[in-house]
Amino acid sequence: MAAKKPAAPKKKSAAAQPKPTIERAVKQKPAVIATRETNPSAMNILFVAAEMAPFIKSGGLADVVGALPHYLRMRGHDVRVVIPKYRDNDYHGLPLTPVVSPMGVWMGTNQEWCSVLQTVINGVIVYFVEHDAYFNRFGMYHDAGMHDYHDNPHRYGFLCQAALQLCHDVAFTPDLVHAHDWQTAPVCAYLKVWHQNDPLFVNTRSMLTIHNAAYQGVYPAAPHYDYLGLNWENFTPDKFEDHGRLNLLKGGVHFADMVNTVSRTYAHEISRPFGAFGLAPYLSAKAGRFFGIINGVDYRTWSPENDTFIASKFSRKDRSGKKQCKRDLQKRFLLAEDDDVAIIGAVGRFVHQKGYDLLAEKIADIVNNMRVQVVILGTGDPGLERFFGDLPKSFPGRIGSYIGFSNELAHVIEAGSDFFIMPSLYEPCGLNQIYSLRYGTLPIVRATGGLDDTVKNYNEVSAEGNGFKFWDATGTALYYTVGWAISTYYDRPAHMATLIDNAMSEDFSWEKTAAEYETAYRRVLEHQH
Ligand code: ADP
Repeated sequence: MAAKKPAAPKKKSAAAQPKPTIERAVKQKPAVIATRETNPSAMNILFVAAEMAPFIKSGGLADVVGALPHYLRMRGHDVRVVIPKYRDNDYHGLPLTPVVSPMGVWMGTNQEWCSVLQTVINGVIVYFVEHDAYFNRFGMYHDAGMHDYHDNPHRYGFLCQAALQLCHDVAFTPDLVHAHDWQTAPVCAYLKVWHQNDPLFVNTRSMLTIHNAAYQGVYPAAPHYDYLGLNWENFTPDKFEDHGRLNLLKGGVHFADMVNTVSRTYAHEISRPFGAFGLAPYLSAKAGRFFGIINGVDYRTWSPENDTFIASKFSRKDRSGKKQCKRDLQKRFLLAEDDDVAIIGAVGRFVHQKGYDLLAEKIADIVNNMRVQVVILGTGDPGLERFFGDLPKSFPGRIGSYIGFSNELAHVIEAGSDFFIMPSLYEPCGLNQIYSLRYGTLPIVRATGGLDDTVKNYNEVSAEGNGFKFWDATGTALYYTVGWAISTYYDRPAHMATLIDNAMSEDFSWEKTAAEYETAYRRVLEHQH
């Protein structure tokens, strides 16, 4: 099958079209909210972030900020979120109400002005900071040519200070400010440097979540550092200085009361030399105040019982529908229609981190030497796009690919495949392997970060496990592990059935993750200064 065309998502009539999940989520009735009056142990929590689903998204960060506040809200906390009012925000018909206009924000010795609007989604108040010069432009972080906006430290530093100013204007006293990634890491510094004597924040603590340590927000120090107003005495190598440049994430790590990342193994990896793009000594210095919490998954959309994109729903108790999903996958990707052949799926960004070059190196050997079909969905590196896009011509009926972004096809691949491959060089959490488990599609992964934490390696003696792992980042290791998975499929069907059952029994729901965050917040609040 040629790239880009035949595998395009199935067109359905408007009537048959499933309602986008986002809309359904948006229109849900807000939960009944406990407040401090009704629940004395309820916390006031302020999320400050650059992205939040369903309003604006470039990656997993938006999913976390879109889901976690809601689940914390369900646990009785007053959680509010501050994000920018970008040009591309999609409000899904929700009303926007003005909150403060104009609002003056102190950046160093300058006062700058913005407005704030709000909406409510699933019981969570979301504030949008409107500053057109900063946020009313193409994309979030870079221009159409993929060049970082040179004023990103101004833009996100302003967002951080605006979030704290807003607390004054709406009389919200946060117990905890939760920052995410380099963009809002400075809010942890503002609390300590700028607002240290501010009565509103006297008991406020901060937590910083690192979703990917590869992105640190490193920019020239001049003119940004002066603008931020965080005092030159904090421009030192243990805080904001990074070989003469400004490193926003590093500064945030120093000033945050607690730091976490999105899996235990990734937390371990990035506190070791070479693992954190230079952050290791600073993360290690946090000692007991740095740890990992695995991301949750929204099973309302990523579960074969509920999935509106797949040919037939199925469940752990009754997996018969998976057969139809497999057929549908084969049809869509013009693969030979065969119920018995093993199918390996892959979905992801074609970037160095994801290790697709290892798959590229071995995919011909895999399909030549094993009875297997392979389906690939992805976009990114132009060389890999060309390579995977052209493969169906060389292996008709055995390899299918679609070069592009299609949420629908991602669901179809998860449901119809027998295995799902993720050869990542590093992976802070990873979502697709967690989806795969729920669909009974056994993950084949390199044991790194969240992949290592969520996938349990198959034990040939006991049939324990829920997938297949390899450790060396080499094509050879990948090839032999795929061979091991495929031989299990054909030679040990009883073990396959057990592994699938184990996989489908796993629970990575947001309810569990939100409880872990709640515990972490309480630890932050107990932390003495
Ligand atoms: P990352 O955030 O590093 O991209 P994750 O595994 O955490 O990796 O999340 C990636 C998400 O993006 C998953 O939901 C995955 O299905 C989706 N995704 C990635 N590439 C594509 C694509 N080409 N088409 C559809 N969905 C995609």
